[in-house]
Amino acid sequence: RQLLDVEIADVDRRTMIDELQSRIDRVEFTALAFANAHCVNVAATNAEYRATLAGFTVLADGIGVDLAAKLHHGRPFPENLNGTDFVPALLRALGGRRRVALLGGAPGVAEEAAANLQRALPRHEFRAVSHGYFRPGLETEIVLARLRDFSPDITLVALGVPKQELFIAEHVTIRETTVVIAVGALFDFLSG
Ligand code: UDP
Repeated sequence: RQLLDVEIADVDRRTMIDELQSRIDRVEFTALAFANAHCVNVAATNAEYRATLAGFTVLADGIGVDLAAKLHHGRPFPENLNGTDFVPALLRALGGRRRVALLGGAPGVAEEAAANLQRALPRHEFRAVSHGYFRPGLETEIVLARLRDFSPDITLVALGVPKQELFIAEHVTIRETTVVIAVGALFDFLSG
């Protein structure tokens, strides 16, 4: 469903989790982002970000986009799917032993978040790949090489909006990961 030039998926959590499970099983590249009212506003004025989001499955995050949907379409989205709730629910629901990479945040934060996730969900394998303050060029190449080396089913990218979406669109492919999710401040919540 279109909201100010951003296409937002009309799905509930269960359906989206099942869809991602089958994409992982088929090893089909998928980029996922969460759009809150702030993101939709950024998209309205930032053409590069808007074009980038076109390559993502975008989920409706928060009361703002829901209100806008009601105003524009007369009905809300099926469910509020913010990354902070959705990502842990996805990881809990996923069958099998999955490799999950964490990329971004201040130095040490991804490590702490990965350790907490590892304790909570020992079935999967979590690995902090890098903090989120690497530079373009060689440092970025090293981060991508580490990602390929781990070969994750899911990569969580926390570089803030819109940097994380632009980074994913420019650098992350099926060679690095099957599913990639732009998660904003998730690691800060998980490391606290
Ligand atoms: N971040 C990062 N690199 C950057 C900018 C931000 O790793 O160049 C991290 C920051 O440490 C925080 C996360 O991105 O953990 C989300 O930042 P913010 O709250 O600004 O983003 P939002 O939740 O608004 O997307």
